[in-house]
Order: sequence, then structure tokens, then C-alpha cells
Amino acid sequence: MNENRPSPITSTVDFQAEGKAHGFLKLPYSHDESAWSNIMIPITVVKNGEGPTALLTGANHGDEYEGPVALHRLAQELEPTHITGTVIIVPAMNYPAFKAGTRTSPIDKGNMNRLFPGRPDGSVTEKIADYFQRFLLPLADYVVDIHAGGKTLDFVPFAAAHILRNKEQQGRCHAAMEAFGAPYSMVLLEMDAVGMYDTAAEEMGKVFVSTELGGGGSSTARSNAIAWRGVRNILVHAGILLDEMDGHDSIRLDMPDAACFITSESNGLFEICVDLGEAVEEGQLIARIHDAERTGTAPTEYRAKRSGILAARHFPGQIKIGDSLAVIAEIVE
Ligand SMILES: [Zn+2]
Repeated sequence: MNENRPSPITSTVDFQAEGKAHGFLKLPYSHDESAWSNIMIPITVVKNGEGPTALLTGANHGDEYEGPVALHRLAQELEPTHITGTVIIVPAMNYPAFKAGTRTSPIDKGNMNRLFPGRPDGSVTEKIADYFQRFLLPLADYVVDIHAGGKTLDFVPFAAAHILRNKEQQGRCHAAMEAFGAPYSMVLLEMDAVGMYDTAAEEMGKVFVSTELGGGGSSTARSNAIAWRGVRNILVHAGILLDEMDGHDSIRLDMPDAACFITSESNGLFEICVDLGEAVEEGQLIARIHDAERTGTAPTEYRAKRSGILAARHFPGQIKIGDSLAVIAEIVE
């Protein structure tokens, strides 16, 4: 096990020091362009006295931008006098992926959200995961990881929490999800939980909230505003930020079965026929895929296998077989 092994990562900021500090998580990385070099992952710690600790992250996947935008702003604006407790801000968790604008790391192709608990002697992405697992998560009471769809997916903006075996912990997570105040909230039963940051945080008993706030490989004024409001609301909810909640109604969504997920079975030109958030009926046309190699061929039609709203869609204009084409979620009354 890794329990007592040192991490190659060192922090230039002291997590116990009062006040506000900007610095780096330094990960030694020697490569052709620079011997004895380091990957410098930006981090900010704001601490004022005794109180809960929140750990806030973005760019777990490097092409998702609401998290980095909201967290760079928070790192700039949050002052010790605003809080009781500690806020640890890492705007870009998979920093090499963020720098490259890609979902996974260009160094080792590591998908951060599949590599927990990580390894201190592993690849670059595994070393970052290990540092979060053994040094940052144990400090935290509240953990918020801001995702979006990246370059290839777009979502209606929602905060998410999992169905957990520990119902007391589940209650705390769901309350925090609701406090975030995204336009939609989603309770998920994770089918593929192994290796996720979510699972690492939940197994330590933390209050964990994640999000999907948009996508397409950029952010919008609306999605950035939702992220900013949500992060502040969670800090207020946690009793860390001494401010008013900016409360918003949130529509509860569920993805109860496999009929929610539509997968492409063809290659071609993607024609979406319903926009995000629109109501759909079972059997309704969701998309056509045109064979763009030639004219005069009938497109393949994709129809809803259940009623609900369009919660996610493939984003690029062309699509391949196996791509996630659309997700239809059910509104929970
Ligand atoms: Zn993501």
C-alpha cells in the first residue's frame, strides 16, 4: 500500500497557516525541453481560524472550463475576513490536460477521474491523484469538483450527488447539491465508480458534490454564472463563507435506466433535432446521421426510447459509431 510513502509532489503553500496564500503543487517532471523541471499546479489556500474545510477543484478533465473560471475568480476575490475555516482552491486538477485543452493528460493519456487512488511512483496523472487521495482529501469536509461536457458533450447545467450506502452521508451530500442551486440537480447511481475522485471522497465520508455545467470545450456567461453562484452557495451552506445564500429553484432529474442513453451506431454528419432542456416523448426523432460520403442516401434516424428532457448531447458536427449521441433524463416531480 501507499500509506506511508512520500509523494513526489510538494506544496509551496502551508495548509495550516492563517491568511491567504497563492502557490503551487510542484511535481518533478524531467523531459526533453527541461531537465530537473517541475509541473507547477496552481493552488490557493484561504484560512481564518477554526472551522470546516472545503476543497474546490476544476479541470479534473482538461477541456472543461466553468470550474477553472469560477475558481480563478474565487482565488482572486476570497479574503480570510470573509470566512471561518479553510478554502483550498485548485482551479485545474489535471493541469497538464488543462494546459493542452484536452480531456486527458498529453503526458501519459491519464484520465484523472479513472485513476484514483493513484500511485506515488506512477505516471504523472497517477501522482496527482495520489496527492489528492492522501494529502488533500483528508483535510476536507466539503469537496466540490466542477465538471462540464468537454469538447465532445454538452449538458443542461446540473449539480450531482450519488446514491450512497451510508444514508446519513447521502443526506449531507444531497443537501449540498441542492444548496449549489444549479438549474437542475441529478441523483446518480454510479455504475462505473472504480477509480473516480468522487468515490475516493465519498469513501472518506466527505460531503461530495460534482457538476456538469455545459460543454462543447468552452463556457458561456450563463454557465460561468451558475458555477460562481454554486461555489459561493456551497461555502455558505458549509458555514465557511459568512454571506447570504443565493437560493434558486432546481429541477430534480433522474436517469433511471439504460433507455436514457442513446449511442451512435453510424459515422457521419450529425443533425440534432431537439435542443438541450426540451421535452421529448418516447419515439420522438432526436437526431439524424447523414452519410456525408455521398448524396442521395437516407439518413439514420435516432428516436427517444423514453420520455423526458434532452439532458446531454454529442457536441461536434460530425459523429462516429460508439459516440454518446444523447441522454434523456426524467424530471422527478
Ligand atoms: Zn469531466
